[in-house]
Amino acid sequence: MECPTCGGGTRVVDSRATEDGAIRRRRECSRCEHRFTTYERLAELEPTVVKRDGRREPFQLEKLLTGIRIAFIKRPVPQSDLEGVAEAVRLRAVHQSRGEISSSEIGDWILEGIRRLDPVAAFRFASVLRRPDDIEGLQRELAAIRDAPASAPGEPSSQPALPLEGTNRSTNQTAQPPSASD
Ligand SMILES: [Zn+2]
Repeated sequence: MECPTCGGGTRVVDSRATEDGAIRRRRECSRCEHRFTTYERLAELEPTVVKRDGRREPFQLEKLLTGIRIAFIKRPVPQSDLEGVAEAVRLRAVHQSRGEISSSEIGDWILEGIRRLDPVAAFRFASVLRRPDDIEGLQRELAAIRDAPASAPGEPSSQPALPLEGTNRSTNQTAQPPSASD
C-alpha cells in the first residue's frame, strides 16, 4: 500500500482484529515515516433487486429508507428505529439471497419490520406495497391498528392518512413510492 502523504512504500507495524471482525493495520511509510491506520473488512455482497416488471437494479439502502420514512411521516417513532428496519432488511438480503432478490420479497420484509414498530405506518406501507386487489392484506393491517393499545394524539386510528397524497409540504419529503412497490 502506498503512503497517502508521499506515495512511498509502506510496511505494516501492527495488525490486530477489531471487535466487529475487521483487521486493523498500523502502517508506516519507509520513505517519510508517516504512520497511518487501515481497516480491512470482508465486503458484503448485496443482491441485485429484480422488480415486478423483470428489470434489475442494484440494492439501494437509501431507497428502502425513503419508502420507510414516508410510511412514518408524523408518527412518534425515532429515526434510528427506521434505520434499524432498513439495515435489518439489508442484512437479511445479504444472507438469504443468492445474488438476486425480488422487490416484493424485500417489501414483505420491510412490512414485517414496520409492523413491529407501528401499526399505522404498517397500514400505510402495505397500502402502497400491495396491489389494489389485495383487500385481505390491508384488512389485516387495519385489524392490527384496531388491536393496538393506543394511537398517537391527532391521528385518528380509524382513518389513517395515506402517505402519498402530497399534503405533507411541511415535512420536506419528496414523495417517492417505496422501491419495493415499483
Ligand atoms: Zn511517505
